[in-house]
Amino acid sequence: MKTIGMIGGMSWESTAIYYREINEGIKAKTGSLHSAKIILNSLDFQEIERLQHSENWAETANILKRAAKSVERAGADFLIICTNTMHIVAPEITEHLSIPVLHIADATGEKLVKEGIKNVGLLGTNFTMEKSFYKGRLLEKHGIETVIPSKEDRALVHKIIYEELCCGVIKQSSQDCYFQVIEKLKGIGAEGIILGCTEIGMLVSAESAISRMYDTTKIHAEQAVNFALNNTYCLVRFPKI
Ligand code: GLU
Repeated sequence: MKTIGMIGGMSWESTAIYYREINEGIKAKTGSLHSAKIILNSLDFQEIERLQHSENWAETANILKRAAKSVERAGADFLIICTNTMHIVAPEITEHLSIPVLHIADATGEKLVKEGIKNVGLLGTNFTMEKSFYKGRLLEKHGIETVIPSKEDRALVHKIIYEELCCGVIKQSSQDCYFQVIEKLKGIGAEGIILGCTEIGMLVSAESAISRMYDTTKIHAEQAVNFALNNTYCLVRFPKI
């Protein structure tokens, strides 16, 4: 079994879900007392959040590069970055590593292709919904078109992530809000919905009947389990998008 390197803490609420999902996955596939071999570098999200909102991506890249290097030095065989948003700086991180990085958008894109989804709704932080690093990658590498909520709805989705979900706060009113946004995305052609922020699964279950949901935390964790056990994974190196 390979050792999984993780950069987490963004937020720790979702890193805890990754930890459980990965160990459950290893247990389901290997049985007995087996558990995942993991090296986790968990960052202080307050620092990262401040840099994100001042658009200082270069400094976030420096922090994540150092974290990735420490995980590599500690003996991880490959790396997962446990957040969608911070894949903005995935190219910079990957450039300086000799171990593979399993990209969350590729894990999700592969799943969508397998399930025949060509047009998908994307929920996540404003950075993930608006910038091209995620949507562009889904289109260019996987042929998947993305639709996103209106500006007003994006602001609500973003606010709920930072002010509630990343703080472990779950509200019925926010769940209702997400369901309304999902209905609107279906109305503009979304055949499925990417829960493109690793905390959204705490609010909206992937099993929810209102649409086909793709929870990126679960998909990414499952891919890490498969790679740890079998070597099956998608793209490692990639150009800057
Ligand atoms: N975990 C979230 C994501 O998947 C948001 C927190 C962050 O900005 O990293 O995008």
